[in-house]
Amino acid sequence: MPRYVERDFARYLECGVLAHGFARVRCESCKDELLVAFSCKGRGVCPSCSAKRAHVTAMHLVEQVLPHVPFRQWTLAFPHRVRWVLLKDVGLLSDVLTVFLRAAGEGEASVAPQAGARQETRKERTGGGDWAGLRRRSFAVEVLACVRCGGRRRELAYVKEAGGVRAIQEHVGLPTAGARLAPARGPPQAAWC
Ligand SMILES: [Zn+2]
Ligand SMILES: [Zn+2]
Repeated sequence: MPRYVERDFARYLECGVLAHGFARVRCESCKDELLVAFSCKGRGVCPSCSAKRAHVTAMHLVEQVLPHVPFRQWTLAFPHRVRWVLLKDVGLLSDVLTVFLRAAGEGEASVAPQAGARQETRKERTGGGDWAGLRRRSFAVEVLACVRCGGRRRELAYVKEAGGVRAIQEHVGLPTAGARLAPARGPPQAAWC
């Protein structure tokens, strides 16, 4: 198995676990504190971080790349056998894409009454690329708004050192150990042979 798969999986198992580090946030009004665990920022393995990454990409496209006009999405699918051929032949794939874009463009021109006439009102740029905004968009969890008094929470510190993490967790009465990992085992099929 490639080393990066193992590494990503190990990080995923630490994602969102307070024992592996967290941010301390405190309400400016009532001084209520909250510990927010770090995430692994992995690709592919961690569903939570993958959801956040999808939001970041979508936000970047909507707010920075795509013009504010109506869009239509086209999907081109091939039979499995053709996919294998296209996968091996980049030149052929490029030719097929060119033909598809030309055909899609012609279809678009015939159905669009007045290109650009129905321009949408410009969306307000949200600037939501920050970590608290991402949690709000991805999981509907508000980190920087106090649930007690409705005041504003502010980041106090990012605690990464094992000693500091342990001391704070012990102080607030939270478990200090992460999940215990079981030793790796072979594929289940091996047991049937
Ligand atoms: Zn508060
Ligand atoms: Zn993660």
